[in-house]
Amino acid sequence: MKPLGPIPPHFPAQGADLMIAGRPARAWAQEHGTPLFVYDAAVVRSRVAELRAALPPTVRLHYAVKANPFGPLLALLAGLVDGFDIASAGELALLAAQGIDPARAGFAGPGKRDAEISAAIAAGVTLHCESAREVERALALGAEAGQRPRLAIRVNPDFDLRGSGMKMGGGARPFGVDAENVPALARRIVAAGADWRGFHIFAGSQALDATAVIATQAATLDLALRLAQEAGVPLPALNLGGGFGIPYFPGDRPLDLPAVGAALAQELERHAAQLRDTRLAVELGRYLVGEAGVYLARVIERKESRGEVFLVTDGGLHHQLAASGNFGTVVRRNYPLALATRMDAPADEVASVVGCLCTPLDRLADRAALPVAAEGDVVAVFCAGAYGATASPAAFLGHGPATEILAESAAHTVG
Ligand SMILES: *Cc1c(COP(=O)(O)O)cnc(C)c1O
Repeated sequence: MKPLGPIPPHFPAQGADLMIAGRPARAWAQEHGTPLFVYDAAVVRSRVAELRAALPPTVRLHYAVKANPFGPLLALLAGLVDGFDIASAGELALLAAQGIDPARAGFAGPGKRDAEISAAIAAGVTLHCESAREVERALALGAEAGQRPRLAIRVNPDFDLRGSGMKMGGGARPFGVDAENVPALARRIVAAGADWRGFHIFAGSQALDATAVIATQAATLDLALRLAQEAGVPLPALNLGGGFGIPYFPGDRPLDLPAVGAALAQELERHAAQLRDTRLAVELGRYLVGEAGVYLARVIERKESRGEVFLVTDGGLHHQLAASGNFGTVVRRNYPLALATRMDAPADEVASVVGCLCTPLDRLADRAALPVAAEGDVVAVFCAGAYGATASPAAFLGHGPATEILAESAAHTVG
C-alpha cells in the first residue's frame, strides 16, 4: 500500500459526495461529462487574497500563463493580478483573446523566433531577453518596425533555489544570461536607446521550504542591485521569480507564506534607498491555480488481476501527466486522489487507479487504500489546476482532450 498526497482544504465532503464550488463532483461530472477539469474560481480568489495580505504592498503579483492558459481562468486572473508572464506568441494570443492588455505581459523563454519578437514589440510586451544574441535581434527588429522595444534581461544567477522541484538557474543553463555577462549587456541595451526594463531572475520552482525561498529572494535582490550598480544603469523593474510550491505528495507541508512575506518586507526595507524607483514583482503559476483544479474521471471497469484491484477510468496521463509521475519527478509518488462518490465509506481495499491508455505509465494512483469502488464511480485527482491539461499529451492514443470549466459557484459556470 502506498499513501496518497494531502487533499487541499477547499473541497469538503457532504455525505458520500465530494463538493467542488458548492456542488457535488458527481453533479459536475453528470452535467459536463468526464474526463473533466473543474477550476474553482473562489479558490483562486482566496489564494490571491492570501498573497496580497502576506507580501509587501509594493510587490506586484504576476501570473505565469504556462501553468494553465485556460481562457476563462485568464479572464478571472486579469482582474486579480498585476501582470502576466508569457513564454510564446501563442500565449500572447491567448491573452489578447481575453481582451487582456499585452502591455501587462513579460515574455521570457529561450528560442524566441523573429515573428514572436516582432509581435511582442508591436504589442508593447516587455521582452525578457535570454541572450546577447536575442538582444541584438530585438534591437534590429524594433528598428526595422520603427518601434522602441521594451527590454529586460533574464539573468542566469550564480545560485539556485534550494529544495526546488525544478531548478531553472545556477550553473550552465539554456535560460538567461550568465550573471557575469549581464552588466555589459545592460549597458548595451541602454546605449542603444531601448526602453530598459531591468532584470528577471527565476531560480527554481515548487519550493515548500520557506527558508529556501527567503534565502533565494534575498540573494536575488542582492544580485540585481549589484549587477545594476556594476553596469551603471538604473533598475526600473525587477522580477524576483517565485517558485512557491504546493503540497502534492505524502508528507509535503504548505509553504509558510507569512514567513516569506515578512522576510521579503525586511529585505525591501534594508534596500529601500536603492529600490526607491524599482517596480518589484513575483511571478507565480501553480501557487495561484494548482490547488483550485480537480480532475474528474469515471470508473469504466473494476478489474482484478492476480489478486490486485485496478479501477480503470476514462481519464489518464493524456490529461494528467504529472499525476502519473511522468512530468519532472524522479520517484513516482501518489498525488492526492479520492473516490468523489464514496467520501463517507471507509478505505477498505487497496486499488490502483489507472487510465484508459495502453501504456503501463498510465497510473493515477498506485496501490492506494480506497473505499470499494464500482463502475460509474467518479475519481477526483487534486492539484490539477496547474500543469494538467496544458502539460499533458492530449493527442496520445486518440482519446482527445478533457473538458475544462471554471466553476464560479453552484449557479454560474463558464466553459
Ligand atoms: C515555469 C515558470 C514559472 C511558474 O512556475 P510555478 O512553479 O508554476 O510557479 C514562473 N516563471 C518562469 C520563468 C517559469 O519558467
